[in-house]
Amino acid sequence: MVILSVEFDSLEILDWLRKLRPRRVLIQSPLGLRGLAEQICSLISGEGVDAFISSSPTWGGCDIAVEEAKRVGAEAIIHIGHAPFLPHTELPVFYVEARYKDYKPLESLIEPIAKALTGYRKVGVGMSVQWLNHMTQFMEDLAARGFSVVAGGPGGHLAHRGQVLGCDYSSLKTIEPIVDCYIVVGSVFHALGAALISKKPTLMADPHTQKVEWMDERAKRILATRYYLIQRFKEARRIAILVSRKPGQYMMGLAQKLKNILNEDGREANIIVSDEITMENIADFTYDAYINTACPRLSIEDQARFSKPLLLPMEVMVALGRITWEEFLDKGLILNLSLTVPQPTNL
Ligand code: SF4
Repeated sequence: MVILSVEFDSLEILDWLRKLRPRRVLIQSPLGLRGLAEQICSLISGEGVDAFISSSPTWGGCDIAVEEAKRVGAEAIIHIGHAPFLPHTELPVFYVEARYKDYKPLESLIEPIAKALTGYRKVGVGMSVQWLNHMTQFMEDLAARGFSVVAGGPGGHLAHRGQVLGCDYSSLKTIEPIVDCYIVVGSVFHALGAALISKKPTLMADPHTQKVEWMDERAKRILATRYYLIQRFKEARRIAILVSRKPGQYMMGLAQKLKNILNEDGREANIIVSDEITMENIADFTYDAYINTACPRLSIEDQARFSKPLLLPMEVMVALGRITWEEFLDKGLILNLSLTVPQPTNL
């Protein structure tokens, strides 16, 4: 494993504090960036701010600790490790994206990447937010080896050009018609999502592990499992719809819509609400199947730890015959939580 160090601009944080003048601030960070939370706590305490550090899980930019901050009387939040995800938050949030300083761990993968991409010409690039400082250099290095390299714009939950999130690949989806394949810089988590939403081949480049790997076989195996779970869901009579309270995951409107659809289909459906959705905290319920309206990656990464189907909303539409499996695959709907896309074809 390569040790990667991140950078942050203390002047930007201090400038934000001086403008906002909060008396108390809550600092939240994911595992792996707790040290940065400590550094920022010392920095802002030195400015006379009453700073608290949260140790609650912080999974993404969707997971802003508004309730926790309000509970401890914080007037603002410093959120480490993710880009802005929500257009509005109840409390002001300063995002410390914690981008990687050094290009070398990615630069050392250029040759293996170029070798793996032999036979492809137009390549779409996506990166987790931590690598975005090196996007231009990376694209130039690939272009120098004869590839035509494209990055899609921001949009949806993506704050930056070329960014990808575990639940939003719109930067790649918009360039799908003009590229032969994708390369995703980040981890298996980020690259696998791209392979699940598109039929274009996806190459992962992970500077941390120094691995370069095509994701398509992994994606095929997951899709085969998803198809099997959709078939099992068809038999389910009693269904629970899971809703997370996290600000960026809260989909109560969608959950109620699903409940109505299932009731119309003659099935019992109830809504279960929690902050963290874990397999452990739903294991004791006796429903035949579950629908996950929270982070879509729970259904991909955690399904193996759970014996009942944990379907995503669009997969439920397949199970109920409202869209076909082929449409679902063609449009790359697996991580799409919206029920407004696509139009039902055989209601
Ligand atoms: S919903 Fe899941 S994948 Fe999306 S930002 Fe939140 S934790 Fe990440």
